[in-house]
Amino acid sequence: MAIRIPTIDAARCSGCGRCIAACHLRLFAFETHEWKKTSVLHDSERCSGCGKCAANCAIDAITMGQKPVSANPLPVEPASPPAGRFIPV
Ligand code: SF4
Ligand code: SF4
Repeated sequence: MAIRIPTIDAARCSGCGRCIAACHLRLFAFETHEWKKTSVLHDSERCSGCGKCAANCAIDAITMGQKPVSANPLPVEPASPPAGRFIPV
């Protein structure tokens, strides 16, 4: 199952903080650039993809997209042979 992850459009973000309050994992924080305060996602690896942040953004500044696949995925365990089948070693 693909995990989704939020992307914030910094140009649209009004800095209201609703996404910060909505995230149960506290993955958002404010960043200030000159006069403008925007919400930024930190520690995206921990994001569960629940979408609460996007659902709480009244101006649709957050879109949910597919989480990038890790460059070093975990090794996959080989499948077990069918029961009763002899596998020579
Ligand atoms: S809810 Fe939307 S507008 Fe408000 S801080 Fe988050 S991204 Fe910005
Ligand atoms: S999708 Fe859920 S866990 Fe991920 S940043 Fe948004 S509210 Fe937090």
